[in-house]
Amino acid sequence: MRYTEKEVRKGIDLVIKSINDFILEMNPPANPQPQHTPLLKGELVRAKKHLGQHFLKDENIAKNIVDALSGQGYSQVLEIGPGMGVLTKYLLERTSFKTTVIEIDRESVAYLKAGFPELKESMVEEDFLNFDPASRFKDEPFALIGNFPYNISSQILFKVLDHKDQVPEAVGMFQKEVAQRIASPPGNRDYGILSVLLQAWYGIEYLFTVNEHVFSPPPRVKSAVIRLKRNAVRSLGCDEALFKKVVKAGFNQRRKTLRNALSEFGVKKSAGNRFLDQRAEQLSVQDFIGLTNMIATLKGK
Ligand code: SAH
Repeated sequence: MRYTEKEVRKGIDLVIKSINDFILEMNPPANPQPQHTPLLKGELVRAKKHLGQHFLKDENIAKNIVDALSGQGYSQVLEIGPGMGVLTKYLLERTSFKTTVIEIDRESVAYLKAGFPELKESMVEEDFLNFDPASRFKDEPFALIGNFPYNISSQILFKVLDHKDQVPEAVGMFQKEVAQRIASPPGNRDYGILSVLLQAWYGIEYLFTVNEHVFSPPPRVKSAVIRLKRNAVRSLGCDEALFKKVVKAGFNQRRKTLRNALSEFGVKKSAGNRFLDQRAEQLSVQDFIGLTNMIATLKGK
């Protein structure tokens, strides 16, 4: 079978196009520009690595994240790390709550001030980790939202726990691996300290996975959005400070049985407790509560 010259040319063009597509995919342009319209013409915030800045470029994803806030049980929302405001603009469209933002980066703050004059009184220039919620919200409940800076995501979650009775809901983007850990049920390697501590007080939903290419600059790993909803538990039915210590110690030596990992609590010789010959990752929240109560009786002796 013979091909005409035109058909051969068409074939060659197709091959060249696939090679070009392949090259482009392997070497994306070094600095893809965010697709949303800049608020200050020509001036964008320079992404700073030490602040975990990866700006979301995809408007649909931004909207979906904001839509994940139920709006129920609070009339205040705090956005951590608004950056150039890709989530903020959708938050400001919601009328059932008031939006406050907290941003550590001066350049982002300047950018937001110019682009969102309506935020004026609701912009906190501070490190979220030093922020005292009572200074803004008194004892009113507030929800949290953000594409969280990945370098401090665990600290953000520990802070949520510190204020669990004031934070009925949190929606946020995390590294996919962190999101999976938080949402993980007992019995597997992802399950850890934050899974137990958060699941004791929150229902956790893994909402969706987000590809690295929708950020500028792209992070090295995939991301995921999860939602935390405060459950009805008001007290765990055990010494809660001890519970935290037991969970932490159990997972700090997660390959050991709890009898060995928790030796500092004097459990070495305790007989007949079904938890002690298991490893931390095998215990549910309820099991950890039971274990904490058992340890409390030992301490009393
Ligand atoms: N929400 C934006 C930016 C996400 S990047 C977007 O989706 O595009 C993370 C943001 O958190 C950056 O703006 C960074 O400056 C901010 N940030 C980092 N550490 C912070 C901290 N400790 N407190 C408040 N904001 C912080």
